Amino acid sequence: MATSALEIPDIRFRDAALAPIWAKVQAGTRLDEADGLALFETTDLLNLGRMADFAARRVSGDRVYYVLNLHVNPTNICVLSCAFCDFAAKEGDDHAYVMSVEDILARIHPDVNEVHVVGGHHPDLPFEWYEDLLRTIQKERPKVQVKAFTAPEIDFFAKRWKLSIDEVFDRLAVVGHVSLTGGGAEVFSERVRRILFRGKIPAERWLEIHEMAHARGLRSTATMLYGHVETLAERVTHMARLREAQDRSGGFTCFIPLQYQLGRTQLVARPVSPLDDLRVLAVSRLVLDNIPHIKAYWVMSGEATAAIGLNFGADDMDGTIGEERIAHAADADSPLGIAREHMENLIRDAGKQPVERDAVYGGMEAH
Ligand code: SF4
Repeated sequence: MATSALEIPDIRFRDAALAPIWAKVQAGTRLDEADGLALFETTDLLNLGRMADFAARRVSGDRVYYVLNLHVNPTNICVLSCAFCDFAAKEGDDHAYVMSVEDILARIHPDVNEVHVVGGHHPDLPFEWYEDLLRTIQKERPKVQVKAFTAPEIDFFAKRWKLSIDEVFDRLAVVGHVSLTGGGAEVFSERVRRILFRGKIPAERWLEIHEMAHARGLRSTATMLYGHVETLAERVTHMARLREAQDRSGGFTCFIPLQYQLGRTQLVARPVSPLDDLRVLAVSRLVLDNIPHIKAYWVMSGEATAAIGLNFGADDMDGTIGEERIAHAADADSPLGIAREHMENLIRDAGKQPVERDAVYGGMEAH
């Protein structure tokens, strides 16, 4: 990652455990898992943020990225029943839905640059339906880049329609698939998987599918769902495993911590605090030294916390999301769709420079 002459802040730590970690950060030395745990456990939050902001500025300077995008969730019908999920429905449920290709197309405003497509594991929607969706977007909205499907969805398509993962990717490539999405990782912990998402692919398979995508030249993002039953050590291990995968394949563009939304699933007594959201962003930036961008995903954390997160290591705010049903099925407390101007104002108010990007961090334009 690019290093420029950067003013090194003079930090007076309240937590002595942070001083040796700060020395490593300044030297560009990789943090180990014990360092990551110490960062999660510290109460010296403001200085944690200053360290993370330094690390973010070393990668992106003052730039904070956003994209004019639309999130589309074509169906909520899903064969799985993850314990944290408020979105999924079974066929026949009152709230079960499948959008039509025409309906999705009608929602894609001509200004949109990226369409982000993820949904339930529908048992009967043919793979050809998804190909037709991407083909139609490619034809009718040629400037749109389609970032689509989680690794568990790719695995599901392969198993359900008796295809290899390469065949799935081959067929999607023809219809304009440029990036895999980062969802479905949850937390890389077999203990948590057994409790919350037993039916979903394990960490090894998630990483394998992303690395296969990277080997083909596709980019992808990566997520971590936090704030449920995971331990701090499991969060750190998740990041360490991602970092190892990135060393091997290099295709992750961005890391997106996702706050668990209590919704109706109520796995814990209360949601994580905004301070914990900031802590996760900061630790992500400091531990994931080889993933270029860290996203403050305002749909989940709320706009205020995401804006403050821009000084806690985040350098991306996602986009002007027009339609996002998954977080809102769990009543995420954020308005649907932030206008471009509002997004840019949030970024400027954080002392940063807004830069409009495309789905794979190309085509950048400072505003
Ligand atoms: S999280 Fe995804 S895979 Fe799990 S039940 Fe919800 S929609 Fe299905």
